[in-house]
Amino acid sequence: MSSNDLENLIDLMARLPGLGPRSARRAVLHLVRKRALLLTPLSDAMQQVAVTARECLNCGNIGTSDICDLCADDTRATGEICVVEDVADLWAMERAGVFKGRYHVLGGTLSALDGIGPEELSIPRLVDRVTSEAITEVILALNATVDGQTTAHYIADQLEGQVRLTSLAQGVPIGGELDYLDEGTISAALRARKSI
Ligand code: ZN
Repeated sequence: MSSNDLENLIDLMARLPGLGPRSARRAVLHLVRKRALLLTPLSDAMQQVAVTARECLNCGNIGTSDICDLCADDTRATGEICVVEDVADLWAMERAGVFKGRYHVLGGTLSALDGIGPEELSIPRLVDRVTSEAITEVILALNATVDGQTTAHYIADQLEGQVRLTSLAQGVPIGGELDYLDEGTISAALRARKSI
């Protein structure tokens, strides 16, 4: 390995989300020191994923086959689709382990400014799936941003009258203290209050 090889690796690592040049340098140094334990297995795993990773043709999740493990899992409930913006959101929902239905990944949000319309977001495929998979409830688990909420309203308009439409509750996070929350979160939490 010449020092150019090392610099090249550091430059590439620095492009990863959450890593800057400084963390990339530390990570590369760590990898080189743990060559057998970490660097070689990591390199093998990356080569493998570079060949096998693909987008699920049905839901847009990232997996290693044309139909992802979640879509292929017969034990998951049919009838409910949880709509998310990004694969990372789907994985976050799965980590929570409470939703046992189907997913649909939009791949972003509607944005007139960036020229992103319904076609770019697999919204037509969602509308098709609602019919072809006999969906009764669509859960809009989109981010609580302006674009996320605009997208949720657009989808709700498209599916109006065909299914039950729900969205995630917004409000006080688990372990959250009122004093630290912004006014938008507090007012959303108050509007979504429930009996105890
Ligand atoms: Zn899938």
